[in-house]
Amino acid sequence: MPQDAHSDQSRSSSSQANPSWSRDELILALDLYLRHRKSLPSKHHAEVKDLSQFLGKMGLAFGVGSSASFRNPNGVAMKLGNFRRWDPAFTKDGKTGLWKGNQDEGVVWNEFASSPEKLAAVVRGIRSVVDMDDQLDHPLQGADEPEIHEAVEGKVLTRLHRVRERSRKLVERKKKQALAKHGKLACEACEFDFQKQYGKAGTGIIDVHHVRPLHSLQPGEKTHLDDLALLCANCHRIVHATRHWLSLEELKATLEAAKKHV
Ligand SMILES: [Zn+2]
Ligand SMILES: [Zn+2]
Repeated sequence: MPQDAHSDQSRSSSSQANPSWSRDELILALDLYLRHRKSLPSKHHAEVKDLSQFLGKMGLAFGVGSSASFRNPNGVAMKLGNFRRWDPAFTKDGKTGLWKGNQDEGVVWNEFASSPEKLAAVVRGIRSVVDMDDQLDHPLQGADEPEIHEAVEGKVLTRLHRVRERSRKLVERKKKQALAKHGKLACEACEFDFQKQYGKAGTGIIDVHHVRPLHSLQPGEKTHLDDLALLCANCHRIVHATRHWLSLEELKATLEAAKKHV
């Protein structure tokens, strides 16, 4: 890697044209890093150029990074170098890595470097959502929802999750199924029933939450009613309140544990 690469990075990190790397971008970069761990590719490598191009496309889909220097091949090659200091295979001989970077790479490293299958699935998911942005009616556009914490798997799959669970058609089918089966719409975690609590005003009110792990979501794949759970607004909010989205089991366990402490 060229020596001047480092100074380029310190200049660009504060510039508007090159905002700090998002979690999705770091996940894609980590994937490339791990495939070339022994000898990192330069900015001229085809895969580095491909990732640079893809990140440009993803930036446009999110409405950021329209400048020509946004995630250019040089920036991508440098980012790969930032993973060096988190890589035990590289640091075990006492080498600390020439490349600084920041804590973000370490966080993504710890979450994904030892789970290659999960990483590959997340990468596939991110790539296909971005590639299908047009067909999917631009799930990546629009404002962030403050009550929904971006998941471990990044913003792209977070958005796909929300698109899925808000699909009007699916929501209606799910509610119809529950009404036919149980005669009411109750939260699957805390059993809250809007109609029981609020009378007529609560009729038909319940959130629908997609329960499948995010990395297993692929666009184009059909959502089954079994992939959806009915949750009251409070429980749904708790599920998405932190980066680690709670599973239904974890949510129920949280409720149980809280009850014991009252
Ligand atoms: Zn609930
Ligand atoms: Zn949800």
